[in-house]
Amino acid sequence: MSDIKIDKICCEYCGSYVDADENETCPNCGGSLKDAILKEKTRLRLAQIAEEERQDKLAKEAKEAQDTDEVFDLIRTIAGSAAGGAIAGALGRAAGEFLKEDLKGAFKKKK
Ligand SMILES: [Zn+2]
Repeated sequence: MSDIKIDKICCEYCGSYVDADENETCPNCGGSLKDAILKEKTRLRLAQIAEEERQDKLAKEAKEAQDTDEVFDLIRTIAGSAAGGAIAGALGRAAGEFLKEDLKGAFKKKK
């Protein structure tokens, strides 16, 4: 947890804010700041982890949305060709959802 930097820490004994990096003890009352620093670092680290998990989740959701777009692009491409028009129309209506799920699975396996 040493990578977490704290500018100021609140002294648990006198409640004053002091520089956390330079003071092992409070310059105002002489109380130990070790516990307060440890608590603050733990709090910041937990917030960091929560933020990382949030970012991961967002990235995963964006990825899945992209996969779905790729499938729709493929269907549109097929639908755009003269020969594929009828097939794609049928696929889009009857089996679109099934095909989408199926292709999504295929995309995931590839990666
Ligand atoms: Zn103090």
